[in-house]
Parts: sequence; structure tokens; C-alpha cells
Amino acid sequence: MSTFVWPILIIGGGPAGLSAAINARKRNKQVLVLAKEQISHKLQAAPKVANYPGIADITGTELGKALYEHASAMGTEFKRDEAQQIVKDGDVFWVMGREEQYQARKLLLAVGVMENKSIPGENEFEGKGVSYCATCDGAFFRGKDVAMIAYLPEAETEARFLAGICRRVYYIPQYRPLPQSIAENVTILSGVPKSITGQETVAAIEIGDQSLSVQGIFIERPGIPPLKLIDGLQIVNEKIIIDENMETNIPGVYAAGDCTGRPWQIARAVGQGQIAAIAMAKELDKR
Ligand SMILES: Cc1cc2nc3c(=O)[nH]c(=O)nc-3n(C[C@H](O)[C@H](O)[C@H](O)COP(=O)(O)OP(=O)(O)OC[C@H]3O[C@@H](n4cnc5c(N)ncnc54)[C@H](O)[C@@H]3O)c2cc1C
Repeated sequence: MSTFVWPILIIGGGPAGLSAAINARKRNKQVLVLAKEQISHKLQAAPKVANYPGIADITGTELGKALYEHASAMGTEFKRDEAQQIVKDGDVFWVMGREEQYQARKLLLAVGVMENKSIPGENEFEGKGVSYCATCDGAFFRGKDVAMIAYLPEAETEARFLAGICRRVYYIPQYRPLPQSIAENVTILSGVPKSITGQETVAAIEIGDQSLSVQGIFIERPGIPPLKLIDGLQIVNEKIIIDENMETNIPGVYAAGDCTGRPWQIARAVGQGQIAAIAMAKELDKR
């Protein structure tokens, strides 16, 4: 566990987060970017970006790489991790990652938008059989049957981890191509999850016209909904509410990019990241 308190910690390494990092470094602030992936999957999915001012034709991956290299060359620190929960303790924020815990004075949420909505029953059974972290909660399901709904191929590693603990793992990828095999006790199923059911705790998941009897369900998405990240964050119509400095209703927590609303575009994300960085740096200078 790191005891260093980062002046600025940015969650998300897409255009919003990297623009904020570049601008915070320009103001000589130490910055840590916590990112689930080196290049945002949204950018990687963009075959051609033709509306970013000054660059007539570039792929999303090329632009993502250029932003990453720029932020890195400016002295930004990066950590490949997923923030799972944020807790405020006085004027310090604790960010609980999958790998480590981090502390920071100012936080920027640059987490993008989740393209996958909740599965019916998911919210009701969260903590009662539904989990978002196999390595954190897998041990609770030792010897039991579980399902994993995976939106990213990276989840195959987590499924392999569960296979070593659980009796049986149903792996239900929502991406293509389907993996050939993961482990002996992992059954790979195609199909869209319809609902999660049970009484006090999870008892089954409905996939197509099948009902699988399971005690645990692990959901691996590209991100964690911001409301699950930090209690009390004001979100309206799935947009984090911000003021003109990109500060949220929680003092010290800022937000930028797609997570604050439409248009979901790179130039907007970059502009908001810059405004947030300037505001955070100004606040830090007052200390
Ligand atoms: C197919 C496609 C084509 C597009 N084409 C264009 C285009 O031509 N022009 C244009 O302007 N825009 C385009 N876009 C939109 C553009 O990609 C987005 O607007 C932009 O990437 C938003 O930037 P962002 O930084 O807000 O979020 P994102 O780029 O989504 O980045 C957020 C990052 O945060 C990470 N993250 C989320 N939660 C956590 C967590 N808890 N811990 C750690 N990391 C986390 C995510 O994994 C992701 O890497 C396109 C999008 C798609 C999908």
C-alpha cells in the first residue's frame, strides 16, 4: 500500500484523463493516472478520427498512443489498475484499486461511459452473489458454481482464477470471437444474459432460454458505474453533474469527458480535461 498522497489522481486514461494529466504537469503538479488500459477501448474502436482540430486523418489508436506518449514525456505517472471504490477521509481521498490503494488530494473522474446497461436483477443482488471482482470475492464461492459475464477478453484471466477455486464456472462472453477454451471446469456459453434471479441471494442466471443454477455471478465490464465508485455523487440521466470548473457536488472530486454528458467526442473530452486540471492546480496552489 502506497502512503504517498498524490496531489492529483486521475481515474481513466482516455482523452479527458490524458489531457488533464498533460495540463496538470504543465503546472508542475505530480499526477498519477490510474487506467484500466493503456489506450481507451473507445479510441481503439474509432477506425478514423476526422474531426479533431488540426489533425485531418488519424486512427483512434494512433491518437490514443500520441496522447499517452505526450502525457508520459511530461512526467505523468501511470498505473494499470481499476479503481473500485473511493472513500473520503478528511481532505484525502482513498482510492481502492484492484491491485493497490492510493491516496490523493484532488481526484478527476475521466471514466468515459459504460455502453452496457445493468442486467435486470444485477443491482438487487449486488453483494448478495453479484460481484465485480473475481480476485477480491472469488474465495466466497469456493467449491460452488458461478457464472462470469465478460465484456472484455481480459476477463479470461479472472475466469481462470475462479476455475481454481470454484466447482464450475460458466463463462459467458459478450465479445467476439469466443475463446476456444479456458480451463477444464469452465463452460463457455454464447448468449445474452436476460436476468439474475434468487431469493435472499443469487440462485440462477437466465441466458437465452436456459436457466443456470449458480451461487455467484461475476460481471467484468470495461468500467465501474461512477455511482458505485463513490457515494453521494450527483448523477442525473447517467451524467455526472459538474460546475464550470468541472467540479462535482463532492468538493475535490472533478469529472471530465463522456461521463459528464454528450456530445461524446474527443475534442470535448480534451477541453474538459484541461479545465479540470487548471482548476485542480489552482486549488492546490491555495494550500
Ligand atoms: C467506434 C467509435 C468511433 C468514434 N469516433 C469518434 C470520432 O471520429 N471523433 C470523436 O470526436 N469521437 C469519436 N468517438 C468517441 C470518443 O472515442 C470518445 O468521446 C472519447 O474517447 C471519450 O474520452 P473519455 O476520456 O471521456 O473516455 P474514454 O475514452 O472512454 O476513456 C475512459 C477510460 O477510463 C477507463 N476506466 C473506466 N473506469 C475505470 C476505473 N474504475 N478505473 C480505471 N480506469 C477506468 C476506461 O477503461 C477507459 O480507458 C468514437 C467512439 C467510438 C466507440
